[in-house]
Amino acid sequence: MIIAIDGPAASGKGTIGKRLAAHYGLRHLDTGLLYRAVGKTVLDAGHKLDDRQAAIAAAQSLDLSRFDEAVLKGAEAGEAASFVSAIPEVRAALVGFQRSFAASTPGAVLDGRDIGTVICPDADVKIFVTAAPDARAQRRAAEYRASGKTIDDATVLADIRKRDERDSNRSASPLKQADDAHLLDTTDLNVEAAVAAAIAIVEKNRKR
Ligand code: C5P
Repeated sequence: MIIAIDGPAASGKGTIGKRLAAHYGLRHLDTGLLYRAVGKTVLDAGHKLDDRQAAIAAAQSLDLSRFDEAVLKGAEAGEAASFVSAIPEVRAALVGFQRSFAASTPGAVLDGRDIGTVICPDADVKIFVTAAPDARAQRRAAEYRASGKTIDDATVLADIRKRDERDSNRSASPLKQADDAHLLDTTDLNVEAAVAAAIAIVEKNRKR
């Protein structure tokens, strides 16, 4: 079974993806990490984020195992990711890895922005996870605080709005709900309720 999860930053899609994978015994890929790693590579090499060739080269030779996930999860890599992810050749370089991950046994849960629309258009179940921007900003700020960073909610909210704007309005694979995706709004749901709602969607709609 392949489950495709898409949605904006801090909507809960990563947590839901991880929990669905554990529940169904599937592999999980947080595809945001791929774009974060490309952005981080460009920054670490001293290039500007609008250096297309540097970003394309980084995507074409990406080895995710070289990166520390905690660093990739930080605000700097997230911001960098949303720039390099708009470059069509960067996206193209990462398609093969994502599709073969999805096709590997015993099946997989992938979360990102274009999983249901571009990477796995034939996924067994597609879920589009969303939440109000304020709720997403509060969650992201709490995550940063838990990892020892001091950042206020207003700054995080402004960052999230900018990222939504860039991800939704780019021409290459914009963030968009697939026509056959099921909407899951997590604004008023805690983690357990959101996971239970996602499992209910899978049970009702799985093709096999
Ligand atoms: O999901 P996450 O916040 O880790 O994603 C970081 C950035 O990577 C997003 O803002 C988006 O620009 C990009 N991304 C993407 N397509 C994906 C996953 C992430 O464009 N499938």
